[in-house]
Amino acid sequence: QLPTPEYGKEDKVLVSIRIRPTAAQDAWDISVPKVIKLSPQHAKTALTPPEFHFDEVLTGSENKPLYNAVAKSHVIAAMEGYNAVIFAYGQTASGKTFTLSGSEDQPGIIPRAMKDVFSHIRRTPTREYLLRCSYLEIYNETIYDLLSPPSVSATQPVQIIGQGVLAPLREEVVTSLKGVREVMERGERHRRTASTDWNERSSRSHSVFRLVIESRERGEGKAESSGRQTPGARPQTPGGTRLQTIGGRSVQMSVLSLIDLAGSEKATSDKERTREGKYINTSLLTLGSVIGTLAENAAKHKNDHVPYRNSKLTRLLQPSLSGDARISVVCTLNPDVQAIPESTSTLQFASRIK
Ligand code: ADP
Ligand code: MG
Repeated sequence: QLPTPEYGKEDKVLVSIRIRPTAAQDAWDISVPKVIKLSPQHAKTALTPPEFHFDEVLTGSENKPLYNAVAKSHVIAAMEGYNAVIFAYGQTASGKTFTLSGSEDQPGIIPRAMKDVFSHIRRTPTREYLLRCSYLEIYNETIYDLLSPPSVSATQPVQIIGQGVLAPLREEVVTSLKGVREVMERGERHRRTASTDWNERSSRSHSVFRLVIESRERGEGKAESSGRQTPGARPQTPGGTRLQTIGGRSVQMSVLSLIDLAGSEKATSDKERTREGKYINTSLLTLGSVIGTLAENAAKHKNDHVPYRNSKLTRLLQPSLSGDARISVVCTLNPDVQAIPESTSTLQFASRIK
């Protein structure tokens, strides 16, 4: 039994809104902290001026306060043995990728998380760690391994062969920030070359960056001090059990998943309305029901059925979402007036999962 962590006082699901800066007119009024509603001049077009409450409502281009508010405690939780998942949800061009990956000047959640992971390791000399990362793309309900060459991943999609067990899957051991950066860059490169229309595909697919964190107390006998090889003893990917004993010392295992979701906008063309659109719709709807049910189960101590099996994304994430996992969903909003319908639907999604 792990000690109840400090973040245990927070809800299972943290839901935040991030509003991108705009040169045009801002449709939203956020004069009250953590509340968002339509500006008075637009509210009169709506029947009831909708008002939404969230854990955080953030504006601006600074990724550091954003990271501290919506991601940091989840990253620390993952280092302490809890599964954690952070999502960016929103219509295309609302700022999902800016939030997760960021820019040169404003690194996003992923690079900041990795920095915290390595500083946590430096601050915890009593434990030894093994970090492995993988990078996946889910497109039309098929899972592609972005760390394999496109020719390989296209012909051998990743299968979910057990609860959260994936194969074939490349997992790269990383020991430094530089190592992570190289792995991510490789994934991005593969993602670009795999698609004939990069913009189109990136807005129609989910990308999943996963970090598997294993750790154990440093033993007194230094015979196996490298900690790198524990042959045959551990499952390929964690399946919900956090502790297991290897060589007399308990190994803690958790997964941190950082997910840039497909654009949430309604289909705009006939092509999209067919196959792709349907898949995206189903997977985002399923994600909403899964997180909504988890939040409700946690808040009301219920045990309602969670529909993980209705999409690849939720099946893949099942072990990382269930149990005492921590979830953060950042819903990004384009503040422009013409985006009001999509923004409203994003806010409705966000309300539903809280
Ligand atoms: P999405 O991934 O949701 O399609 P992007 O993250 O690519 O959207 O954002 C669209 C554009 O807006 C990009 O040029 C990005 O740099 C910019 N952008 C998004 N959010 C912000 C923000 N909070 N501050 C400054 N620029 C932003
Ligand atoms: Mg994007």
